[in-house]
Amino acid sequence: MKSENPRLDLLRAIPAVDQLLLRPRMTEWVARASRGFVVAEIQKVLAEVRGEVRDGRAAPSLEAEALEGRVLERLHRSLSPRLRAVINATGVVLHTNLGRAPLSENARRALSEVSGQYANLEYELAAGARSHRDQLIEELLVEILGCEAATVVNNNAAAVFLILNTLAAGREVVVSRGELVEIGGSFRIPDILARSGAILREVGTTNKTRASDYEAAIGGETALLLRVHPSNYRIRGFTERPELGDLRELARRRQIPLVEDIGSGCLVDLSPHGIRDEPTAQASLAAGADLVCFSGDKLLGGPQAGVIAGARLLVERIRKNPLMRTYRVEKLVYSALEATLASYRTGRALEEIPVLRLITMPVEDLRRRSRRFARALEKAAPSAITVECIAGHSVVGGGSCPDSPLETMLLALRSSRFSANVLEQRLRSQDPPIIVRLEEDRALVDLRTVFEWQESPLRKGLILALS
Ligand SMILES: *Cc1c(COP(=O)(O)O)cnc(C)c1O
Repeated sequence: MKSENPRLDLLRAIPAVDQLLLRPRMTEWVARASRGFVVAEIQKVLAEVRGEVRDGRAAPSLEAEALEGRVLERLHRSLSPRLRAVINATGVVLHTNLGRAPLSENARRALSEVSGQYANLEYELAAGARSHRDQLIEELLVEILGCEAATVVNNNAAAVFLILNTLAAGREVVVSRGELVEIGGSFRIPDILARSGAILREVGTTNKTRASDYEAAIGGETALLLRVHPSNYRIRGFTERPELGDLRELARRRQIPLVEDIGSGCLVDLSPHGIRDEPTAQASLAAGADLVCFSGDKLLGGPQAGVIAGARLLVERIRKNPLMRTYRVEKLVYSALEATLASYRTGRALEEIPVLRLITMPVEDLRRRSRRFARALEKAAPSAITVECIAGHSVVGGGSCPDSPLETMLLALRSSRFSANVLEQRLRSQDPPIIVRLEEDRALVDLRTVFEWQESPLRKGLILALS
């Protein structure tokens, strides 16, 4: 029956939920997921279609087959993960937006073993009794770092906060003005310090602070001396910063704990590989820090975590802080961290830990890979594209080593059809998404952060994006 209102006719022509449910592909989805889930997705599509008809927008196809296609697409999309693996072609090794450190094979194996089963997280197998969840990792950390005790929390920001809150709430913390830094956009030493309940006592100037400045600031209210690795920034020119050894002498004499936030969790000396100014945790402890803290997912190359290590008495006090419960980590983190640390114990960290392998990758290897990749790309890509190999730099990133750019070979891509911005956006929408750097009118691909097994999906994605 035709009515006066053509829109009403269209609305009536929309198939019912049950009609769509009976189509064979939908039956498959009901078996795979559940009837309730599929019905809900069908209802969402039908609601969209009704809206489109009412608004008089482009008359949607109301055939059951076309609508089934829309529902299938939606079902597929709603079940594909939102957190996805991407190809990092930026050359930034520790890219915070891209999840920082990719885990080692050992760590991934440990995760898959422990994640789907029960584990002895807080259970001492030898005694058949309850234990502390830090115990297993502590043995390993103590051995690697050469200290008395260690504990693990959610990240290094939490580590700094807990140290200050436990050891200095209501009292003064002496910090050099040159170290009152902001890291990663929201981690500001003065803010964390204030929230912890500690009182900031700034000493020295931005570029020069001497041991005597610390000494002059020490009084009855001083709870600790804090050193912060300035991570993402450097002052050049006339600068002065006391050696840790000088501060140790002062801290011992005045009986005040000396704490160093070293940031990156560097556990092997990377200076032979061009990484300067990254103190190792072992060196900091050996030079006299009573406590150090650092991230698990920066240069250490493990999962997100914060490690606090050093004097047993201090670590025990931190462990007993009731706030510890709000920062504790789960079995997956312990498992991945333990497997990552094992590579340091066996002396195979540079080979086995991805971030260390990427940072120490010889530039000759990158030149060879880039040239080979460029040749393959030129053969397959449309002629509207130019591919050039140019010398450039990768960076460690993650707020580490701003003074240590790493020599690399970049592929510079230019298209006569797309602007660099459009190209970048097309690369981002590939599967897997490809993330590149832009420079002027070129998209730059740095193979340092692309694993060799990703070269083939990278090439395919580039060709699709350029076509
Ligand atoms: C990165 C960094 C932090 C914060 O560490 P997260 O693990 O990201 O919380 C704190 N202090 C320093 C010196 C850092 O470099």
